[in-house]
Amino acid sequence: MLYVCDYLQSELEEQFKELGEKPYRARQLVQWVYKKRETDLAKMTDLPEPLREKLEGLSLKSSSLKMIIKKDSGENKATKYLFELKDKNMVESVLLKVPSRKTLCISTQVGCPVDCKFCASGKDGVVRNLDVHEIVEQVLMVNKDLGAQDQIQNIVVMGMGEPMLNYDRMIKALRIINAHWGMEIGARHITVSTSGIVPGIKRLADEPESFSLAISLHAAIDEKRTEIMPINKTYPLKDLKLALKEYFNKKNRNITFEYILLAGLNDKPEDARALEKYLSDLPSKINLIPYNPIEGANFKTPTVYAQRAFYQQLMDRSVFCTLRETKGSDIDAACGQLRLRKVKKVTS
Ligand code: SF4
Repeated sequence: MLYVCDYLQSELEEQFKELGEKPYRARQLVQWVYKKRETDLAKMTDLPEPLREKLEGLSLKSSSLKMIIKKDSGENKATKYLFELKDKNMVESVLLKVPSRKTLCISTQVGCPVDCKFCASGKDGVVRNLDVHEIVEQVLMVNKDLGAQDQIQNIVVMGMGEPMLNYDRMIKALRIINAHWGMEIGARHITVSTSGIVPGIKRLADEPESFSLAISLHAAIDEKRTEIMPINKTYPLKDLKLALKEYFNKKNRNITFEYILLAGLNDKPEDARALEKYLSDLPSKINLIPYNPIEGANFKTPTVYAQRAFYQQLMDRSVFCTLRETKGSDIDAACGQLRLRKVKKVTS
């Protein structure tokens, strides 16, 4: 089986040449898929029938994902998609909607090996890395679902999986999403979010494109961060900071930090002070996110009063941050929850 979304346009042109076809035919195919959002070969009417038959003979597919659940939040601020893959595994994508833009949060692995204690995706470990086409097709499928008059403007690689642990496929997928012949989403509108995998951050800093970077930080004190994110043992805060400075020096881009507020654990004045100190020489923006409870974890969401006090302490010290309302908690929008429920239903 061959998948269109596994290839850069230039690679498809080469493949077509090897088939004895003109390279512009490959460009026509790419246009159908990314610009006209058409994945059915039979409907690509400007491709000659013998060519379509030849491609069918090669089992060339433009999409492999099957949408099995689509769930809107009550206030229609988020839509969660659960996709079945060719091997029956499942991945999630979440569409976040504000009036001015639509942002799709995409997955890069089935499950996740990183085991952050507050996250549903890491609960059962990792099953496998996604292929390039499986990452690209999440965007393609949701764009198709939105209809011809609408489209996704931003991508965050913040769904299931640690993108830096599937680096090569993730980067190739982002190149296709970013390309002028592809989905034309600007590099600055594409954010890679990592739990702090230092070698991946260094590689991203050396890429020709200026993709944005977000860090799941969640604590600026090593002991606390290790307690909720065991990856901190391998890449402690000091090493992470060096890699982030390198990224900033090479890209001159502010870094976004995600900080899930967990009652009594990382929401105290000492935590805000540590956060301020950690970020004092790094241009950054912090998203404070009240914890969204998941099954099997003992964390609690801080009271609204405690959330605001933490936010205010940072703002009073001129640390730029936003306090997010949790979008879509009524549709299991926390990373990995919908898949986990479905998997449990199937196996129980
Ligand atoms: S937060 Fe991200 S890195 Fe951590 S377990 Fe969940 S998916 Fe993996």
